[in-house]
Amino acid sequence: MNGKMDRRGFFATFVKMAGVAVIAPTVLNTVFGSEAHAQKKRGAAPEAAPAAKSGGMPFVDPNDSVAKAVKYVEDHKKAPEAKGNHCVTCGFYGKKDATSGTCTIFAGKLVKADGWCASWNKKA
Ligand code: SF4
Repeated sequence: MNGKMDRRGFFATFVKMAGVAVIAPTVLNTVFGSEAHAQKKRGAAPEAAPAAKSGGMPFVDPNDSVAKAVKYVEDHKKAPEAKGNHCVTCGFYGKKDATSGTCTIFAGKLVKADGWCASWNKKA
């Protein structure tokens, strides 16, 4: 070998490296287990989500980027531009219980019934 890698050698090395990159995390996770699995084995509660949860679905964190972009607040009275409008009267709102519901804008999360954001749209 002259020290230079030919195309075939380069390709063989690339395939080996790609295989290691794909397989290594799986093997390591299987051997050592994930942190959540380790916590479960120890009987410790898994790390709580940053926002409080209601019935398994987390509430929107007013500080997350989408919430900030639409100026979401948990209490419409703290947003003068809400002009008394709030999530319950919004067309994007889906009531879950007396104090919370889903919102089309925040898929997989709950908003406060008294919340509001700049995307408020009068319920038909
Ligand atoms: S779109 Fe409507 S329901 Fe969703 S956060 Fe804004 S005001 Fe509330």
